[in-house]
Amino acid sequence: MIGRRFGGTRLMRVSAGIVAAALVSGCAAGGTSPASSAAPASSPPVPVKPQQKAGPPGVLPRPGEVKAITPAGSVLPVISSIPTTRKVVFLTIDDGWEQDPGFVRQVREQRIPITAFVMRDAVEALGAPDPAGGVGKYVGRGKWSYFRQLRDAGVPIENHTLTHPDLRTLGYDAQKAEICGSSKLIREHIGTRPTLFRPPFGNYGAGTLRAAKACGVEALLLWTATVQPGGKIAYQVPDKRLRPGDILLLHFRPNLARDFRILVDKIRRRGYELGNLDAYLKAALRRAK
Ligand SMILES: [Zn+2]
Repeated sequence: MIGRRFGGTRLMRVSAGIVAAALVSGCAAGGTSPASSAAPASSPPVPVKPQQKAGPPGVLPRPGEVKAITPAGSVLPVISSIPTTRKVVFLTIDDGWEQDPGFVRQVREQRIPITAFVMRDAVEALGAPDPAGGVGKYVGRGKWSYFRQLRDAGVPIENHTLTHPDLRTLGYDAQKAEICGSSKLIREHIGTRPTLFRPPFGNYGAGTLRAAKACGVEALLLWTATVQPGGKIAYQVPDKRLRPGDILLLHFRPNLARDFRILVDKIRRRGYELGNLDAYLKAALRRAK
């Protein structure tokens, strides 16, 4: 595993309003039933393997390239994009319903940098996946072992709650149970402790930030654009273009491997590289201290 800490994050302490961000289509809930689920329910923890010789995937920040992420009004930094002028974007993938082995091979063989935000009910296929992606062939196929394979391919496995609630509807204790419970589970099954948290639907409040911090989270990670089935990018900005430092959100949906190929080609055709989010965050947060 690449170095996962940003260093002692005493960082941010600000005052701005912590408003619930209503970002486009985090992830929907309910809908069609899972097509299949065959694997055993859970597997014992597996120690983290030493990371491969080639170093972390994706481009790394140049000295001085990344600006500090400045405190934005909370006990934790809330990040939607990385402050850089280099043509680099970051890929993040949420939930974890569809567990296509072909996607792991793609990530490993092409050394594509991604960060996964997993939630228990998707990983363990405890409910019905987001219907937006169509019927999946691999829903819950690998469960946590699938994410251990991604971990071994250099993918940080981060926190996206246990049950994918709208956290604005929950009190502090319930939010903390969702976030700490997820971190504990990831620690048990993956062997690493999440340092990033992505609130379902992008919805959060002041209590969410306090709860996340109490659970060992060092930053809330939002996004600037979502990627739809077919690799189409849905921007949250009016000019509908990729911008340096954008964080793109995908989901573990059917046809992810195909959509991913289309997306990566598109990003590269536009002259962008794929960045290593962990390394860029470390640079941005270190500079803020
Ligand atoms: Zn989600």
